[in-house]
Amino acid sequence: MNVIKFGGSSLASGSQLKKVIQLVKEDAARKIVVVSAPGKRSAEDEKVTDLLIGFGMKALVGHDFSAVLEKIIDRYQNIAEELGLGTEIIDEIRSNLDSLVKGNKNEPNYYLDAFKASGEDNNAKLVAAYFNQEGVPARYMDPKEAGLMVTNEPGNAQVLPESYEQLAKLRDSEEVIIFPGFFGYTKDGKVCTFSRGGSDITGAILANGIQADLYENFTDVDAIFAANPHVVENPIGIKELTYREIRELSYGGFSVLHDEALQPAFKSGIPVQIKNTNNPSAPGTRIMKERQLTEQGVIGIASSSGFSSIYIDKYLMNREIGFGRKVLEILEARGISYEHMPSGIDNLTIILQTNQMTTEEEHSLLIQLKEELCADSVTVEHNIALIMIVGEGMREKMYTMSKAATALSENHINIDMINQGASEVSVIFGIQAKYEDLAVKALYEAFFVK
Ligand code: ASP
Repeated sequence: MNVIKFGGSSLASGSQLKKVIQLVKEDAARKIVVVSAPGKRSAEDEKVTDLLIGFGMKALVGHDFSAVLEKIIDRYQNIAEELGLGTEIIDEIRSNLDSLVKGNKNEPNYYLDAFKASGEDNNAKLVAAYFNQEGVPARYMDPKEAGLMVTNEPGNAQVLPESYEQLAKLRDSEEVIIFPGFFGYTKDGKVCTFSRGGSDITGAILANGIQADLYENFTDVDAIFAANPHVVENPIGIKELTYREIRELSYGGFSVLHDEALQPAFKSGIPVQIKNTNNPSAPGTRIMKERQLTEQGVIGIASSSGFSSIYIDKYLMNREIGFGRKVLEILEARGISYEHMPSGIDNLTIILQTNQMTTEEEHSLLIQLKEELCADSVTVEHNIALIMIVGEGMREKMYTMSKAATALSENHINIDMINQGASEVSVIFGIQAKYEDLAVKALYEAFFVK
């Protein structure tokens, strides 16, 4: 039995839904279908979830929301008309959207979450109606009825472990189950969404719950590419990845699969297959526990920017017991998280996301670090990009580091920081952000072209 999840672009129009039903019909193992809200039909289009957020915000503060409400209904109506569905489903969606406005405004985050979740919830109802019309017996499944329970964290809910036992019962269904992604219910019965893009998480939770053989994740790209296709022209698609590799690549900036979706699949060792709804014959990318290592040591190159580095220097730092703890306590008290902390004998560098602090907050942090740590100097540098080369095979390969360093130096890119995790699955280079794309191109050339 497989869980098959479709992203927003796969459900954005009636013609897309025709591809979806075809894919479900093709394979009897595809018994649990997780759906997103309708996404963009073109680059300029709006996602229904974004429209719903606009609708909810207006309703919350008592502004006129009629235009955005009609836009949302229009999206579903277009799909329904293209598929020849009757008007009942649109009436049902309209009455659901009307009822949201009457929610409890004293809890604004939960109020808005109910709007956000309705995108997938109404879409699941529409998809189920369409499947039945086409002679594929299907049932819309309410996450509450199925027992998908989550923590009380609107916009960032986490699954409660007791859900899995309940969800296992979905195995017994005769019909195809159409399950709305992106949200669950709190113990006190409130709708609560995962973080954005969270339908991937629902799919992974269900795959774990029913102990699926495979979690198929259908999106709009042929594969996970070895580098960002907006930076490198026609990068190769990756056929197989381990959970650890995709975790590193997601951290580094790859966004094909929500990083939180990996955990439930990873815990139960269920393989994840990334496929393209618009080109299902393309092999896609399979993510699994272990893979056969190939000649290719490096499997992907990721990059992200928006980082700063704080450099702390103090003579005899290496002998001072508790120095690192004091640094971390200062960050913790300010609610600041750090990404990396490479160190030398008498110095250490803290790499963190720049947007966590205003200029004033940063200034006062630097003063506090200097004074409380009695440091010789504390300096900050902005506009840092982190470039990652990732691959399990790197462990067994020599020269990876020299190849990467050569590629960067040949392009006159100075390396500000190098961090190789103990796992040896990735190496991270900190460089100036203005060289980010150039560095990715240079590394791609070195590892995949030459
Ligand atoms: N519709 C939600 C979003 O846009 C969840 C998803 O598509 O996975 O974030």
